[in-house]
Amino acid sequence: MVVVMRTDATEADVEHVVDRVREAGGDAFVSRGKFRTIIGLVGDTEAFLSMPLATLPGVDQVVKVGKPYKLVARELHPQLTTVRVGDAAIGRATFSMIAGPCAVETREQALGAARAAKAAGATVLRGGAYKPRTSPYAFQGLARRGLEILAECKAETGLPIVTEVLDAGDVDHVAEVADALQIGTRNMQNFALLKEVGRANMPVLLKRGLSATVEEWLMAAEYVAQQGNTEIILCERGIRTFETATRNTLDLAGMVAAQIETHLPVVVDPSHATGRHDLVAPMARAALAAGADGVMMDVHPEPSEALCDGPQALTPPEIEALGAELAALARALGRPMA
Ligand code: PEP
Ligand code: MN
Repeated sequence: MVVVMRTDATEADVEHVVDRVREAGGDAFVSRGKFRTIIGLVGDTEAFLSMPLATLPGVDQVVKVGKPYKLVARELHPQLTTVRVGDAAIGRATFSMIAGPCAVETREQALGAARAAKAAGATVLRGGAYKPRTSPYAFQGLARRGLEILAECKAETGLPIVTEVLDAGDVDHVAEVADALQIGTRNMQNFALLKEVGRANMPVLLKRGLSATVEEWLMAAEYVAQQGNTEIILCERGIRTFETATRNTLDLAGMVAAQIETHLPVVVDPSHATGRHDLVAPMARAALAAGADGVMMDVHPEPSEALCDGPQALTPPEIEALGAELAALARALGRPMA
């Protein structure tokens, strides 16, 4: 951290800052310029952040340098992490497909979607039993019954399951069926929930918040990692902008920016990012070309009958065709589909 003094700061003001930093167990190096003095702080940044340095006499601003996240930072852990979800390995060496229904609605619907996901080349099955809906009148998910159906889908297809958990109190029983716990966009900064899934000893798929910066997203991952769990997959699912032609705006540059910052794998959800089935395939191809570690996509046997997010769901033939196309493209790019 650096403390920038005002041009009219006195020598006593500078000494006061230095004394306060040293009292807090740190060290301070003073650099006197023609107009301004700056003071470089060395030591425990968190301790400095909790001090009222910006309010001391003569101080203009306190500037943080370095990353606020540590456990998820690539700078400190250059080796990239591959996250295992059941038998699937999600990381930079391959390109993974996660697919399934947005919500588990019925046994037949979920099994139909699971078979299509498998046929398309997915290695992980997604599907929500607990649904975070904007309207309290909308279908909220089948809860425990939905988990039972997911277990049946897993038994039939062999695909491991990623499913969302909405409440810290549900983590234990969701974890009995799930192979990875999903934190949805609306809960990205639910810190109690992040800590709870961090303690669950199971991979976590952490979606980017609706209006979260890349840094806030990585700080959310840091909460999970702080509990001793760095088996985290980040998922870019579009952010809120002024644009209304798409449900959200897919931030592929943000996805790559996150990959540069962290050793964790980052996947893209073109279904929730666009909200439009006709944009899913082009954005999935773009995500692969941009270097994403995988995609997560919605599939529904009958999108027009879906209780949740029908407009963005691919049909089974569509996802199978897209899977074949992605596999060919991934091979050409030297990152075969897992
Ligand atoms: C989902 O993946 O089912 C979901 C609700 O997505 P998001 O949290 O990105 O809106
Ligand atoms: Mn959805």
